[in-house]
Amino acid sequence: QGRVYLVTGTHIRSRRKILLTFQDISALKETERIKKDLVANISHEIKTPLTAIKGYVETLLEDERDKTKKRYLSVIYRHVNRLSDIAEGLITLHELDVEQPFQEVPVNLRDVVRRVVELYRRQAEEKGLSLRASVHSDVEIITDPLKLEELLINLVDNAIRYTREGEVKISVCETEDDAVTLSVSDTGIGIAAEHIPRIFERFYVVDRSRSRETGGTGLGLSIVKHIVERLGGTISVESTPGVGSTFIVKLPGRRKIVRGSCAPHDDR
Ligand code: ADP
Repeated sequence: QGRVYLVTGTHIRSRRKILLTFQDISALKETERIKKDLVANISHEIKTPLTAIKGYVETLLEDERDKTKKRYLSVIYRHVNRLSDIAEGLITLHELDVEQPFQEVPVNLRDVVRRVVELYRRQAEEKGLSLRASVHSDVEIITDPLKLEELLINLVDNAIRYTREGEVKISVCETEDDAVTLSVSDTGIGIAAEHIPRIFERFYVVDRSRSRETGGTGLGLSIVKHIVERLGGTISVESTPGVGSTFIVKLPGRRKIVRGSCAPHDDR
């Protein structure tokens, strides 16, 4: 009761039997849980003072006339923001880890995509990038709208941060096996093949200085992967350095078709 066992099976051919080994890994699981709780607790604890520091720095920045002091304050502000994003990311990962229940409601993908495009329109424009959405069908899927939005936000945020010129595009379409595919593609710097297997790990970044410079924490894709797994889907990446990347999320078919149109439709 309350114990966790790792069961391994070995086929013993000569005796035509299967040997099952039960290994009690309760202590290991408990240590893992304590570690995760500790990280989440620290993150919660540092979030409050960081929010206060941010507020004061913002006020000082507004009032400061001295150029040098303003520059120093901007540096403090940037670093505090980064710390705050890290704390926030770790809290999100912990919530995903402890299996807090996801909502299960009908969600119109077109609406989710539209909200994300609205959210990032300005940021894309400021960089001179075109941000487009192409929703190839009007489907509703049973899912958690906020988690789906968070997933898409992380992918679009990355796509914009790692693209200097060209386009970021979100596409949604149905596949033959009754699943829904959401993809985010960019014409950015791309990812070399040797890094791809590791980019979903916590704090893994390909180029630390570039990630920092663009406001990265190394947690975004880890959050994306957790959400995709909790939604029962899969994620894959196709990327060519110097050409661009496409992140493809495939979600299972627990959905209902609203208007069932497969004709390409551009949502700007
Ligand atoms: P970060 O906060 O550093 O962006 P992520 O977990 O979101 O962390 O991504 C991990 C790493 O994967 C990034 O540091 C970056 O090197 C690479 N990466 C993610 N998305 C893209 C993209 N669209 N184009 C190029 N590189 C990317």
